[in-house]
Amino acid sequence: MKTLKFAVLPGDGIGPEVMDATLEVLKAATAPAGLELDTTQADVGGIAIDNHGSALPESTLEVCRAADAILFGSVGGPKWETLPPAEQPERAALLPIRKAFSLFANIRPGLLFKELVDASPLRPDNIPNGIDIVCIRELTGGIYFGQPKETRTLDNGEKMALDTMVYTVSEIERIAEVAAVTAKARGGRVCSVDKANVLQTSVLWRETVIAYFKKNHPEIELSHMYVDNAAQQLVRDPNQFDVIFTENMFGDILSDEMAIICGSLGMMSSASLGLTNNQYGFPYGLYEPAGGTAPDIAGKGVANPCAQILSAAMMLRYSFGLDEIADKLEAAIRGTVESGIRTGDIAFGKKSVGTQEMTAAIIERLG
Ligand code: NAD
Repeated sequence: MKTLKFAVLPGDGIGPEVMDATLEVLKAATAPAGLELDTTQADVGGIAIDNHGSALPESTLEVCRAADAILFGSVGGPKWETLPPAEQPERAALLPIRKAFSLFANIRPGLLFKELVDASPLRPDNIPNGIDIVCIRELTGGIYFGQPKETRTLDNGEKMALDTMVYTVSEIERIAEVAAVTAKARGGRVCSVDKANVLQTSVLWRETVIAYFKKNHPEIELSHMYVDNAAQQLVRDPNQFDVIFTENMFGDILSDEMAIICGSLGMMSSASLGLTNNQYGFPYGLYEPAGGTAPDIAGKGVANPCAQILSAAMMLRYSFGLDEIADKLEAAIRGTVESGIRTGDIAFGKKSVGTQEMTAAIIERLG
């Protein structure tokens, strides 16, 4: 491998600012290994609506198809909020891009450095060493996509709406595999979250997960939890988990709860892996910060670039198999934060630096 070919989709708001910072850091991290970045930039979200009339133009999809991974910023903002819901940047870009590349597995690290425990709404004595867990969410099935999905008028004139929750054994098994592989690289424990006391899909989910782990990953410590209990346990004692894995809607809610207990969105990365492999035999994936476009600080040069850089580290790890460089990047971010160089969102009222200074400090620590 000589070049890393990936699509760069900065999007709106702080997206372009933190993306520029990330590309600088990536160059510095990969050059010593003789690697070159082969990037093509394309519009997505609001800027794509302005320039091409659609949040996910065909030209952008073409750039993504020709690449081995997608590094994504974030999309949306007040300018496009008056559009009909189906045309708004998030809905019109994120759902179709997940569909176009069959991105079925969403991996979100719930990582809070111990130096940043004050950023969490949890009591510091509850999380003295910070938080280190991972949430794996099934992304292309369940109630968000099941058919029928419609609003009808009944014979008596009353309106009703219907969503359908559907899962097949193969859909459950492929996400179980992602959870198992993730747990093996960490603490070796998986907690599968469902609602098997009420939902048929959850009964199948639990049966399938038990059989799959017994046959393929007997060494993993597997446990099960109902989703309502999982929501409570996450705030009571998040570190009791290693890898949480669950279906689409439960994962949507639990992963956002996890983001909140981990403090600033400026530190939260994510990966969405696809069904197909890239030219190097690694999963094709889309890598993006968990937060949005932060319109309140966009253009001010104060956005925290760490979430975008940590997302790029995930890209190196999952789509290019470059674990060592990913480790180095993560360590450089940790070292920077530990040394007290921080953007406003994680400075807790103390002196803070801008995006550029934070980026320079991270590059310096790549050494
Ligand atoms: P947001 O995540 O953009 O911002 C929430 C808060 O977190 C703000 O105070 C913001 O300043 C802060 N924040 C987020 N990222 C930060 C960073 N890197 N550095 C410092 N502070 C950071 O959420 P919102 O305000 O609800 O949404 C704003 C826009 O983003 C909306 O248009 C929404 O639709 C869109 N959005 C997009 C995505 C996506 O592209 N995946 C996700 C969520 C929201």
